[in-house]
Amino acid sequence: MLDSKNAFQSEFDEHIVRVLRHRIGKDEKAAKKHDWYNASIYALRDAIIDRWIESTRRTYDAGDKRVYYLSMEFLIGRLLRDALSNMGMTRQMEQALRAHGLDLAELEELEPDAALGNGGLGRLAACFMESLATLDIPAYGYGIRYVNGMFRQRISDGWQVELPETWLAHGNPWEFDRMECSYRIGFGGEVVAKGDHVTWNPAEAVEATAVDTPVVGWRGKRVNTLRLWTASPLDPIRLDAFNAGDHFGALEEQVRADSLVRVLYPADQTPAGQELRLRQEYFFTAASVQDIVRRHMQYENDIRTLPEKAAIQLNDTHPSVAVAELMRLFVDEHGLEFNEAWALCQKTVSYTNHTLLPEALESWPLPLFERLLPRHMQIIYAINSRVLREARKAGCDDAQIAAISLIDEGGERRVRMANLAFAGAHSINGVAALHTELMKETVFADLHRLYPDRINNKTNGVTPRRWLQQCNPGLTKVIRDAIGDEFLDDAAKLTALNALAGDAALGERIAEVKRSNKVALSDYIKRTMGIRLDPDALFDVQIKRIHEYKRQLLNLIETVALYDQIRSHPERDWIPRVKIFGGKAAPSYHNAKLVIKLANDIARRVNADPSVGGLLKVVFVPNYNVSLAERIIPAADLSEQISTAGMEASGTGNMKFALNGALTIGTLDGANVEIRDHVGDENIVIFGLTAEDVAEKRADGYNPREVIEGSRELGQALSAIASGVFSPDDPNRYTGLVGGIYDHDWFMCAADFDSYAAAQRSVDARWEDKAGWRAAAIRNIANVGWFSSDRTISEYAKDIWKVM
Ligand SMILES: *Cc1c(COP(=O)(O)O)cnc(C)c1O
Repeated sequence: MLDSKNAFQSEFDEHIVRVLRHRIGKDEKAAKKHDWYNASIYALRDAIIDRWIESTRRTYDAGDKRVYYLSMEFLIGRLLRDALSNMGMTRQMEQALRAHGLDLAELEELEPDAALGNGGLGRLAACFMESLATLDIPAYGYGIRYVNGMFRQRISDGWQVELPETWLAHGNPWEFDRMECSYRIGFGGEVVAKGDHVTWNPAEAVEATAVDTPVVGWRGKRVNTLRLWTASPLDPIRLDAFNAGDHFGALEEQVRADSLVRVLYPADQTPAGQELRLRQEYFFTAASVQDIVRRHMQYENDIRTLPEKAAIQLNDTHPSVAVAELMRLFVDEHGLEFNEAWALCQKTVSYTNHTLLPEALESWPLPLFERLLPRHMQIIYAINSRVLREARKAGCDDAQIAAISLIDEGGERRVRMANLAFAGAHSINGVAALHTELMKETVFADLHRLYPDRINNKTNGVTPRRWLQQCNPGLTKVIRDAIGDEFLDDAAKLTALNALAGDAALGERIAEVKRSNKVALSDYIKRTMGIRLDPDALFDVQIKRIHEYKRQLLNLIETVALYDQIRSHPERDWIPRVKIFGGKAAPSYHNAKLVIKLANDIARRVNADPSVGGLLKVVFVPNYNVSLAERIIPAADLSEQISTAGMEASGTGNMKFALNGALTIGTLDGANVEIRDHVGDENIVIFGLTAEDVAEKRADGYNPREVIEGSRELGQALSAIASGVFSPDDPNRYTGLVGGIYDHDWFMCAADFDSYAAAQRSVDARWEDKAGWRAAAIRNIANVGWFSSDRTISEYAKDIWKVM
């Protein structure tokens, strides 16, 4: 047994060295760390490829239905540790590298983050891909291979500065170019009708070519494909123009193709609204739908059986033009009659809604849409007249008809992408219970009345492989020792920890792991930012996109109030706290960027003030991304989930923190509601207005000034910020930001302040009860296994895709 294992190990050792020589072209003696990094991935890849081919073959042979997940974003982060762990090869790799004096953890740090997403929506797509493979569901993720994905954030004098992310600068050993898999994607031009037959003659076209990345499921059962599209011109250079001396004009098509896959629009919860964005959406959606139909015809040769073999999930409205593209292929290319095509389309497509914010709902000016996609515009009109006919038949009045229409007729006419997705899908799901209910009552109230069977809930989840096992090996080990290994295959089994919630020895071991994670994070912050932290302080963390509805500002105001209190009452027994912030702001989002500056201004003043005696430290960690999340979350004691109730669709950061034993301080918003239901009221700190309260207050003309006058602590904190205590170099910097709270306080910072501050002081009291805190942490870990994306995906599989 031991011998065969050694033989296996030495075979792998030799394999890496062979790869280093023959694929990297380096001798062991000359190889640099980066060469070993590449060799490690190539060697691992070889093992993955065997499973990949085997998985694909199995699906073809069985004629299984496939799931197609269309998403503008896949925020996958690093892949090496994930793939090694899921393949069960971590130990083997560590040993092989050690023989050459190399440390796997160090090589892992060389991998750039694949930052092909803004935030939660893109990360969800990445967790889903991993869970699909884990559950052995044949699936493809379809998206765009952005050359510079999400921008890299630098903080310069406290301000956010955006730099291009160059994740592909040293190549990407995970990718497989599929040159043979390419489609011509057209834009503009005209539509010609000859008798029954309609032809679209685009004025321009680019080539979409597939680049595949393998996605390994837990225990390596299945390997699925993430297929990202890259763009190239039909003619790389116009030689006639070049020879005539027009060297730039000769490359125009190349530039046009490049721009399609150059950057991800760095906006979260705001539609970009620009022509290039619509081009990107159509580009990847059309390539994906054509690829899906091509695969189907190759193996089934009957377009009518598509819904039996393919389920297309639209991750938000970004790919919702898929509805029109699929109809175009059915009718124009496969000669189906409209009604039959429409039934097939609805059976195949389903749509996930991610937002209720009206300003975040995508719509396109009709003239732009018509110019870029003239045939799709016709198809959308045809769909619309059918939908409106059904609405009239059902007795809808004019206001309801106007709300249901795929065309917004108010003012400048626009195409409503959410209505298109709703009409063309058999299932429309929300991402948390509260969000789904609000969807029925607000954005889709009228469509829901017309088609009452379509809306359903699928509460989000996160993969416990990345968000527990890989990011927190210490905690994973303690849990295995306590309850065995079953939870590794079924996170719901973590509930076995409930019986041990009062076990002092377990509480102690978990606290030791937490402390060592905090030491590691403190070392990182010391090394990268020069700020010294006390690992015994309470680590209070808010990391997520910077957005007014997420209310980093509420947290900062409370930080200022606490600072004030500590200085006024140095004699009290203050709990030492570290306030950690992180997150990117959309480059055009003025208030969000100002919040980043405020966090940094507060940090500079507080951290340098000897009178707080180290009781309070404030840190803004630059460039929040997946790898940073993996570092920070295992070190958190307190998880800030404090959005204005009714505005966060689900949140998934909340789940990652609880799974790593942090307590949540939060509002009854998004999935927080369900987290409370699972961990129990006593093990979460809930404060503030409910979604209903917020709606009522907004309707009744709420007066924030009155609230501020009634709260001394709040009033003082706001005046300190507004008067330049933290910005002596520019005393008016925050006048407008604070003025917004006085004037309208749309996000209810003032309304929720007292309740939030009281909740924070109750957190202090809990922290002093060490045993109580530890028991609550165990209760959190024990009861959030339900928020595994395996559970979410199995619900999609059974209820929507019918593949389980
Ligand atoms: C989980 C995650 C998010 C989503 O966080 P929320 O708190 O749910 O907004 C965003 N970015 C990264 C890098 C993540 O890992």
